[in-house]
Amino acid sequence: MVSENLVIIGSGPAGLTAGIYAARAGHSPLTIEGMLSGGQLTETAEVENFPGFAEAVSGLDLMTSMRTQAEKAGVRFAMDAITSVDFSASPYKLIGMSDTYEAKCVIIATGATPRWTGLPGEEIYKYHGISSCAVCDGNFHRDKDVAVIGGGDTALADAIHLAKICASVTLIHRRNSFRGTKVLVDRVLATPNIKVLMNTEVRSFEGDGKKLNSLKLSNGDLLWVSGAFVAIGHDPQTDFLKGSVELDAAGYVKTEDVATNVPGVFVAGDCANPLYKQAVVAASTGAQAAQQAQHYLENHSSKV
Ligand code: NAP
Repeated sequence: MVSENLVIIGSGPAGLTAGIYAARAGHSPLTIEGMLSGGQLTETAEVENFPGFAEAVSGLDLMTSMRTQAEKAGVRFAMDAITSVDFSASPYKLIGMSDTYEAKCVIIATGATPRWTGLPGEEIYKYHGISSCAVCDGNFHRDKDVAVIGGGDTALADAIHLAKICASVTLIHRRNSFRGTKVLVDRVLATPNIKVLMNTEVRSFEGDGKKLNSLKLSNGDLLWVSGAFVAIGHDPQTDFLKGSVELDAAGYVKTEDVATNVPGVFVAGDCANPLYKQAVVAASTGAQAAQQAQHYLENHSSKV
């Protein structure tokens, strides 16, 4: 059992920023990194809207730099993933895959995971042609034809990234207008090897039993592709909190400012934010959570 003052769960922009602030305030936080060190942003090819970077920076470079900054500030890291918590009494217990942790104060910053379609064939061809990470898997389809499903910023950014690697990209969106930002829409429309299919849905993923080779579309066409990238949004990573912290119907942590319904348990980033889902917003709520944690630890030091 590891006993700590402050444990931060998650190592994306929210968790790392919380760590930087808490370490600088002298609380020597332990950050549990989770299954994907650096979080979702490590899977983003280019970040153009994080303040301070006049040129686009890769998501992986941004998160590597943020982690180095956190380590320099005094954040300690544990390679572990929390699977359940016990917030019934302080010190709180966090049960991980490798260890159990006790903490007087906790910041939850576990982010969100990509959503899958649930369509026929998806389970068969997931990771055999179907992917949710264009940056990770795009290169498997170099000079081949691929599809991207979705109409938000992730789908648009994925299409732009894949168009640089693949022979052609078909962007399939179920409505007649994009949800994503204009700058990305304009770039997609100006890219010659991206074809846009609006008002179109995928009905099923088809293949030879081992590998994806085509998509059945709602317009009756069969689209031949070597890869399909699903970019239809994200779900909060909060299953491990069920019954311990109040969640809303979609699974986001209910929060007032950055406080949860459990004293001394704070939340930051996409796991509590169904709306903005921006790295800069995650970072800012991380800073807020760290300051709330600091007040909590200072005011409760004799009682916890
Ligand atoms: P999102 O904005 O929620 O968009 C999801 C898209 O998938 C929507 O177009 C939605 O269609 C479509 N969709 C949802 N379920 C579907 C289904 N079952 N079948 C087909 N299509 C489906 O998610 P996101 O693109 O992952 O973005 C999440 C957040 O991250 C956003 O706030 C975004 O701004 C941010 N982000 C920012 C950047 C950036 O460069 N700044 C990059 C990536 C993400 P409808 O439009 O019809 O609902």
